Amino acid sequence: MSAVPAHPSPLSEHQRILLGQLLEGLDRERLWWLAGYTAGIAEARTRIHLAAEALPDTDSQTRLCVVYGSQTGNAKRLAEQLAQQTTDAGLPVRLFRADAYPARELHSERFIVLVFSTQGEGEPSDDARGFVDYLCSRRVRDLGHMRYAVLGLGDSSYAQFCAIGRKLDARLAELGATRLLERVDADLDVQTLADPWLTRVLHVAREICAAPAPVAAIVTPLRPAPALPVWTRIHPYAAQVLTNQRITGRGSSADVRHIELELPVGGLGYEPGDALGVWPVNADALVDAVLSTLKLEGDTAVTQNNDTLPLRAWLRERRELTRLSRPFLDAHAARARNAELDMLLAAPDAPAAGRLLREQQVIDLLLAYPAAWTAEALVTALRPLAPRLYSIASSRKEVGAEAHLTVAHVAYITRAGQRWGSASHHLASCDAGSNVSIFLERNERFRLPDDASRDLIMIGPGTGVAPFRGFLQERIAIAATGRHWLVFGHRQARDDFLYQLEWHAALKNGTLHRLDVAFSRDQAEKVYVQQRLREQGRRLYDWLEGGAYLYLCGDATHMARDVHAALRDVIVEHSGHGREAADQYLRSLQQQGRYARDVY
Ligand code: NAP
Repeated sequence: MSAVPAHPSPLSEHQRILLGQLLEGLDRERLWWLAGYTAGIAEARTRIHLAAEALPDTDSQTRLCVVYGSQTGNAKRLAEQLAQQTTDAGLPVRLFRADAYPARELHSERFIVLVFSTQGEGEPSDDARGFVDYLCSRRVRDLGHMRYAVLGLGDSSYAQFCAIGRKLDARLAELGATRLLERVDADLDVQTLADPWLTRVLHVAREICAAPAPVAAIVTPLRPAPALPVWTRIHPYAAQVLTNQRITGRGSSADVRHIELELPVGGLGYEPGDALGVWPVNADALVDAVLSTLKLEGDTAVTQNNDTLPLRAWLRERRELTRLSRPFLDAHAARARNAELDMLLAAPDAPAAGRLLREQQVIDLLLAYPAAWTAEALVTALRPLAPRLYSIASSRKEVGAEAHLTVAHVAYITRAGQRWGSASHHLASCDAGSNVSIFLERNERFRLPDDASRDLIMIGPGTGVAPFRGFLQERIAIAATGRHWLVFGHRQARDDFLYQLEWHAALKNGTLHRLDVAFSRDQAEKVYVQQRLREQGRRLYDWLEGGAYLYLCGDATHMARDVHAALRDVIVEHSGHGREAADQYLRSLQQQGRYARDVY
């Protein structure tokens, strides 16, 4: 019988055995066909769930409504998982991305589950802004008839961890709705807390939506869907590195890599705008530093959740060392008993604690505030390692079964020693021929227009330019007739002009119609992309009025906010209307999918 992996799987023991029997003796071709076939069924079921009208809400039967706000795809995946499990249980469910939720129906909703992520310093995801604003507005009054549960997603290295989940939870309670389950705030290792929570929601749903629902028929696709969800976050693909090339000059202070990865047949089915999740591996030198600072032996066996590994392997492959989390800070403080550290942590929103979380790594904390740890306790307290996302910088139509990434290698020296970013250092250290664990993370909110005659305005400073290389490749491959305008920024023209030759070649052959660049450190005064947008305001507004799609990719914390402000100013100036109208103009572009952002 074929071996079906026994590691974390949504299948029951019985289902695994049946699957093993089915797979026995199947060759590659049949296995790929099967993958596409099941993907097609999954897609068809999702379509059924997304059709809001499909299932009635009657007095005799309460229907679950799942709403998600997602930036990088985690909240979306969990919401879809819940909707799928609810339907599988024969219960009625509706699933909505937050910006597609019909606000007028909120007052008649009786059972709602919110799955919302928090970005950076307490912001909602782009698709959730309208929903959060609406729920928190005076237009929503009494929700006394509603029962609800909230799952928050976030990153505990930010002071405002899961702020949006907390805000929605508190607001629903304030409006009189009944909280069915305590909110859960899931960290980057989302599945750890989310999975048991979703199981509990399902249990509650069985009680609330008791009357059996009309189960939607499964539509069997005529031909297998191209999407091949065989390789997932939990079962990543070991992609071979084909190229790892530095694309910044010798004189640059930035080390940016162009990485080409080999993918399985079908290229994981990625589309322009999608990202690759990369499982990082912590640097050996960093692991050694942690072990020697704590005087622990790397070969000590440590068992967690029935998994036994040497401590060195836990630290290398399973635990976060480059990002501090609030729970680890607290656990370390309890051991260190250091007055200075205690004072820092006493006020959670104080700038000093926030800075510590943002700027220091685990090793910095261990060195600055010595404490004793056992191997077991350390593995328990550290946050599980989470994958990092990189926007795909290629189109399958151009590169076939490959994905290209543009990666800024995070590496710097502190007084205490060398520091790295875990995934970028892992990728930058991989020679051609070595393997990287990856999976596909779809980004439905960052898509090219269906209509290839539409113009594109692409704003991508730094490695934020990555998806636009893929966009242009795709549009050239489909012979799109719309125009392309790229606005790129980086530090210095000589050393930091990423993919300069490609952009110039495209300008020359007429596939790129306009290129504006802002090199911040080539002169005394900083110049950023938003300055170019202001200078070209008339043209920008005319392109938008002509139906152009606007895309922004790069740093979420400062750049995206400042560019957004510049866009608003341009619209105010050239439309002749006020700020509020300009905000409404941008909101409306966002709702039409004509202003999309891929920022983190
Ligand atoms: P970066 O740090 O964003 O710097 C690129 C350029 O932007 C520099 O010239 C920088 O100038 C300038 N800049 C700094 N502050 C700015 C502001 N407020 N407004 C406009 N421009 C500003 O470049 P990077 O190191 O390549 O980082 C890229 C960012 O994109 C990261 O935050 C990453 O998470 C995000 N991202 C990357 C990908 C990917 O696939 N690689 C995808 C999505 C998002 P100075 O430094 O001279 O001030």
